[in-house]
Amino acid sequence: MIELTLTELCWAVVIATLVLVTLFVWISRFAHHNAEKRGVRRRWICDLCLTVWQEQHKTKIATCPHCGKRCMQKK
Ligand SMILES: [Zn+2]
Repeated sequence: MIELTLTELCWAVVIATLVLVTLFVWISRFAHHNAEKRGVRRRWICDLCLTVWQEQHKTKIATCPHCGKRCMQKK
């Protein structure tokens, strides 16, 4: 059996907590970054009336819901 002093146990708890918090922050930022990229890919801006909308499907040409202009994806 491993014998730990109180000081060693406290350090282990502190280090484990830091590692878990760092891991959680890293995963959270990664998920947020991916969600942001996904949103930008689906976001469309009409050239004519500057209406902003999101298309649910991946497409190269979309119709503006406000003025009906056919817009092309700019990349
Ligand atoms: Zn428009």
